[in-house]
Amino acid sequence: MHRRPRFAGLVAGFAAALAVLAIGLPAAAAGPRVSFAIVKTGRTVVQESLLYAGGDKAAKLDNNFSAFLIRHGDDEFLFDTGLGARIDSQYAQDMPGWKQRFFKYLKPIIPARDQLARAGLPPIRRVILSHSHWDHASGVVDFPQAEVWVTKEELAFIRGGGAWPSQVGAPSIRWRTILFQPRPYRGFAQSLDLYGDGTVVLVPQFGHTPGAVGMFVTTSSGRRFFFCGDTVWSAAAIPQARPKFWLAGLLADSDAGRTQAEIDRMRALQKADPGLTIVPAHDSRVQARLGFFPNWVE
Ligand SMILES: [Zn+2]
Repeated sequence: MHRRPRFAGLVAGFAAALAVLAIGLPAAAAGPRVSFAIVKTGRTVVQESLLYAGGDKAAKLDNNFSAFLIRHGDDEFLFDTGLGARIDSQYAQDMPGWKQRFFKYLKPIIPARDQLARAGLPPIRRVILSHSHWDHASGVVDFPQAEVWVTKEELAFIRGGGAWPSQVGAPSIRWRTILFQPRPYRGFAQSLDLYGDGTVVLVPQFGHTPGAVGMFVTTSSGRRFFFCGDTVWSAAAIPQARPKFWLAGLLADSDAGRTQAEIDRMRALQKADPGLTIVPAHDSRVQARLGFFPNWVE
């Protein structure tokens, strides 16, 4: 008597039915929808040659001050805030006089807070900063209900006076520390998979500031993006791993050597994955191609 084959046959049939079900699932049902929108809060105009070594001296370009709104299912967060509602008083209070001719912004400013409210979006509960410089952290005070995520290295930089008291000095700000895991990800030794599904992954990109972070986003359609903050100001710098114009780098980058190592890493990343779109926080050409909020990149 052999009853076993019949039982095995049943198991095999069940497994086959499951496989058919799995194959039959549409890709979109595999996880929450992931998309993002570029919230342009302001701009300035700069000579391209100041953005990166070898840039065109005759070309004048918009330099955007943008926040990035990331949507994962029902959750939304901001990566950087751009220029916020209180930028004028912040600038008057904390931008040193000698630096004012190097770092400017044009009017009007349309704070992310106002754009999101006008679109009827719920209050933002989480802000992640690529780094804490004035043109990225200005809007932190506009989202008092949000947790603000930075690396412990960046928090030490903030508390050591690296960022503006008018922007990050309020004791009411709810700081949260980004804890990277020892999980290598696309050339980075550490990473943090924010939702555990590989769609939004933070990586350390220390150099421009001591605790700067980059962010990979894969949207529902499978398009791949890397948000690199200010590691470069223009994506045109990446194919030849060009640093910033030397004086600009001296004024802006905390550590020139580490910044260059991160630019080199992005060149390798781009070579290995030509389909990856690298989005610097200020690059108006890359951002214009993707469109601006309320347009979403799916
Ligand atoms: Zn910046």
